[in-house]
Amino acid sequence: MNNQLTVLIIVAAFLSSCKTPVAKSYDFPKPVDTSTREIDYQEKKTYSFPSSQVYFSNQFDGARLNDCTLLEEGLFKVLISPENFPINLSPYYAFKIWSDKDQRIRVKLHYEKAKHRYHPKISKDGENWSLLNQEYFSYSQDSTHAFIELGVSADTLWVAAQELQNSTHLKQWCQEKAKQSDVHLSSIGKSKLGKELWLLDIHNGSIKNKDIVVLLSRQHPPEVTGWLAMRAFVDEILRDNDLANAFRAKYRILAYPLMNPDGVDLGHWRHNAGGIDLNRDWAYYRQPENRQIADDIVQKSKTNKSHVILGLDFHSTYKDVYYTNKEPSKHLKDFEKFWLTGIHHAIDEEINERPSNVGGPVSKNWFLTQFGANGITYEIGDETPRDYIEIKGRTAAIEMMELLIYK
Ligand SMILES: [Zn+2]
Repeated sequence: MNNQLTVLIIVAAFLSSCKTPVAKSYDFPKPVDTSTREIDYQEKKTYSFPSSQVYFSNQFDGARLNDCTLLEEGLFKVLISPENFPINLSPYYAFKIWSDKDQRIRVKLHYEKAKHRYHPKISKDGENWSLLNQEYFSYSQDSTHAFIELGVSADTLWVAAQELQNSTHLKQWCQEKAKQSDVHLSSIGKSKLGKELWLLDIHNGSIKNKDIVVLLSRQHPPEVTGWLAMRAFVDEILRDNDLANAFRAKYRILAYPLMNPDGVDLGHWRHNAGGIDLNRDWAYYRQPENRQIADDIVQKSKTNKSHVILGLDFHSTYKDVYYTNKEPSKHLKDFEKFWLTGIHHAIDEEINERPSNVGGPVSKNWFLTQFGANGITYEIGDETPRDYIEIKGRTAAIEMMELLIYK
């Protein structure tokens, strides 16, 4: 009997020592209920107008077009609705148009309970995009609808609020990066609708005790410009030069480029398939995306006795902003001050930093409360020129690497 008891105790002790670490819950001063809510799915179809010989379609990942009607000859109304209410007003749209004959048409973009936000981008192939010429665009005084004029033909024309960057694009990018020996690509889990949650685990040599930098993107589906900055940021970290090579030897970077693949592919304005703003779910991880990614970061740091020292979460808003924490972090003292000054000197950016106290359950606050790490929400303007985003993202990486290497 005694022997059996001893064995039981040993087994129990072994099992508890093997228990996988998970992210801690935290009561933020401004809690948010992130229990799953219902969403509306848009009907996927081609809207055909035989008399005009014009066709609209939302049959691709990342599309958003909720209804389409002919108002008068040559004028079509497109309804753009969100996945649910209440919601942040980011009226994202994306659809394809073609016509049996060459003609010019007008499209009225009608936003449900929202105002116009994104200047239209157009593409002939869904890959290469340009801004719609200003002369073909106007919007109503109350901004609830916008008019665009387009030349259509048998060749498909893509029209979207931002360049299309859906889960297929992201997967291709991840696979391309994973050709480099310091990049280890894996899927750490699945979204609510079963899409992969990709991780680029970037480092050279042993991961034991390496301090960790975390990068996040696309919690909010339409925030493509933030993603473009993260892409440039990662490219700079992966360069074959003294600085980047030394950085990957000293640090481990965990980059989660697509936190909300369901929302991105469903063409959502803000939420995941659980109808929730993921960047409010860092307290109790009620949504599978946050639960798995938060646990993955915690597990990777604990099992290798590493500190998470910095978390950068890439987003988009009306203009470029750095949201930072007022409370001090444990590891990188005054990082924001030196980093932002460095960026300012390198590219003459007029730095717009907005420090705040820990309030709601957003990632910036989570990095601080969970790890004592510096947490920064890196916001890019919706219409910030794309070539500048590239320079800015690369510069942000260079300045960070220099600070962390030579600190
Ligand atoms: Zn955002």
